[in-house]
Amino acid sequence: MAVATLTLDLTALAANWRALDRMSAAGVQTAAVVKADAYGLGVDAVVRTLAKAGARRFFVAAAEEGLRAREALGPGPQINVLSGHMAGDTRLIREADLTPMLNSVTQITRHLETLPGHSFGVQLDTGMNRLGMEFAEWEAAAPFVLEAGPDLLMSHLACADAPDDPMNARQLANFHAMTDGTGVARSLSATGGILLGPAYHFDLTRPGIGLYGGQPYGAAQRVVALSVPLIQTRAVAQGETVGYSATWTAPQDSVIATVQGGYADGIIRALSGRATLWAGDVPCPVVGRVSMDMITVDVTHLPHVPDALDLIGPHQTLDHLAEVAGTIGYEILTRLAARLERRFIGTPS
Ligand SMILES: *Cc1c(COP(=O)(O)O)cnc(C)c1O
Repeated sequence: MAVATLTLDLTALAANWRALDRMSAAGVQTAAVVKADAYGLGVDAVVRTLAKAGARRFFVAAAEEGLRAREALGPGPQINVLSGHMAGDTRLIREADLTPMLNSVTQITRHLETLPGHSFGVQLDTGMNRLGMEFAEWEAAAPFVLEAGPDLLMSHLACADAPDDPMNARQLANFHAMTDGTGVARSLSATGGILLGPAYHFDLTRPGIGLYGGQPYGAAQRVVALSVPLIQTRAVAQGETVGYSATWTAPQDSVIATVQGGYADGIIRALSGRATLWAGDVPCPVVGRVSMDMITVDVTHLPHVPDALDLIGPHQTLDHLAEVAGTIGYEILTRLAARLERRFIGTPS
């Protein structure tokens, strides 16, 4: 085994979707957000698994991602594009039967002129100031847009991972003000919003990270494991240094393992000298810099050095690792997309 192995538990993935689905009332639909190659896990296996589990609606960031999801899913499930209908997307939207989430008058005009009668949704900005139509813009355009028959009105919460943040209630009130009485299906919540409770669920929820086992969904089953193979071990005498820039000096005679996996695999350099790998139940500290393809690990205390060490596993979750690196689980996952071997285990029941 020459590359690090990312193991994805499809049973856990399906279980997380079902558990998030059960958190909202029976009439509320639970979609699945699979942008960025399903957060780096591999969109084909993820959408097939979730479709089997019962998901009928998927969200991607761009039309190109939508095509890929459509090829994996076949006809039937709805695929929504969060960047809307960009110039140049028209053919892809039609041929892959994508539903763009339109976010401006320009996009709405483009969509209605080029693909009249083709499904669409509208994104509203309730305070995040990132994407979607703002209050005044929507107020002016709404009568005409509603006439064209959008099938979803949606917005996105900026602070849903912090339940006590007053921003949540403010955005909720704004969303009501912008959408009450329209008679159109509505969606406000990603994973964090689902956990805020039924007032935030509306007609459809859009979990992403919770499906993949990440915070803020603390009760998620673990979906991802990452194991890195050992290339070589060496004896390093007390006082010798290891790795680029010689940042680590052996405090005693040591045994150092070099494992195959580095920042080109998404094991980001910020983990240098800070992360821990695991030999079964035994922690082994990373020493020195993470390099492009390799990491050096202190295994002096191991009676037997295994063929591979775990970076994400039972003792170190995605979120633990993210914390050590000073980032969030989302970024760790989406960086792991590169050359890792993906192994799928479990089957959705
Ligand atoms: C990424 C995204 C989601 C999913 O968010 P998670 O926090 O991963 O659940 C939902 N809606 C929108 C608009 C997004 O951009």
